[in-house]
Amino acid sequence: MAQLVMARYGEIALKGRNRHRFEQLLVNNVRRALHDLGRVSVTRTYGRIFIENVDTAAAIPRLTRVFGLVSVSPVWVMPQDMDAIRAQTLAMLAQRRPGTFKIQARRADKSFPHDSPAINRQLGAYVLDELPGWSVDVHHPDLVIYVEIRPEGAFIFSTSVPGPGGLPVGMTGRGILLLSGGIDSPVAGWMALKRGMELTALHFESPPYTGPRSREKVVDLVRLLAEYAGPVTLYINHFTRIQQAIVSSCPPSLTVILMRRMMMRLADCIAEDEGASALVTGENLGQVASQTLESLAVIGTAAVRPVLRPLIFFDKMEIVERAQSIGTYPISVRPYEDCCTLFVPSHPATSPRERQVVAAEAGLDIEALLAASLAQTERLVLTEARD
Ligand code: ATP
Ligand code: MG
Repeated sequence: MAQLVMARYGEIALKGRNRHRFEQLLVNNVRRALHDLGRVSVTRTYGRIFIENVDTAAAIPRLTRVFGLVSVSPVWVMPQDMDAIRAQTLAMLAQRRPGTFKIQARRADKSFPHDSPAINRQLGAYVLDELPGWSVDVHHPDLVIYVEIRPEGAFIFSTSVPGPGGLPVGMTGRGILLLSGGIDSPVAGWMALKRGMELTALHFESPPYTGPRSREKVVDLVRLLAEYAGPVTLYINHFTRIQQAIVSSCPPSLTVILMRRMMMRLADCIAEDEGASALVTGENLGQVASQTLESLAVIGTAAVRPVLRPLIFFDKMEIVERAQSIGTYPISVRPYEDCCTLFVPSHPATSPRERQVVAAEAGLDIEALLAASLAQTERLVLTEARD
């Protein structure tokens, strides 16, 4: 008898032409998530992925970060033999404090001589005889023992761990994630990954005003996202000269908008190199002056590619809760120097006009600034943090 992991994936998303691609990608992503756990075997049948030859306790937490999986169960597999099935059922109940139980059988292999109700009855009666502390409750049992009779054997399990849902990373295209060290942008990145996007991260730093702490934070955030995404490329752009050029030649009330527009242009250039078709930010409506509808509109027109803002309508508390559940929050709240707060005016414009902004940019040699800044951009490939 062997223990393996059975993972279920969503069927709604499986309709139509994408189904095969979805499944193959999901299997590959499962393999990648378990790559360092030995010679793991990953196979798939309709709606299910089986993971064999693996330490289930180590595998399950990894699988809860593979987008596309709906739930995961440790499963015992044995021959299609009622004696073996009885023994395993008993062993699973005997491990626990007695309470109420229910057997839920499913005969997927119709050549098995007993149908599902017969399996339920036989196993239930056997348990009641052997373990007098237990009683049956078909409506609200403390424990459900699931028995599936499949052509490959009998599968028995009692627990399911929820998966993260979503679509397999890689299914819906690549985006450039503008990743600060704050709370919002890592959550935005996670949401893009959840809907199947692949991400390349881009961080702007302002040496010497920002120090190693900022970089360390961003690296740690990317490593955490890599637990969901597999290896992630991080570009680190030196943004100081652009900021200085803006501050020295443009109206102070527009500096933040102009900096954001330069960020969009740089992100577009990197998207070109990386084959990405969208930009992703943690912007959120109404949070700060640069996040009014007017500001967002003027920032967005600097980008050629669509700017995706997954958090646009979230409340701050909702973002914080999500950051906590995905694990980015403790990293995001470490102190750091934010490149954007360095040159921030006391009265930023909240309803900038496109015309005004374009006029202010006339004093900048945008192409030269972009080229110089891109030449200084560093590129790192980061893998998940594992001890
Ligand atoms: P965050 O918590 O993600 O920093 P925020 O609410 O603090 O977001 P801003 O600082 O105004 O908002 O930044 C808006 C968005 O611009 C960020 O969510 C991020 O996508 C991008 N951004 C800001 N600063 C940087 C940076 N230093 N490097 C990369 N992207 C940045
Ligand atoms: Mg910020």
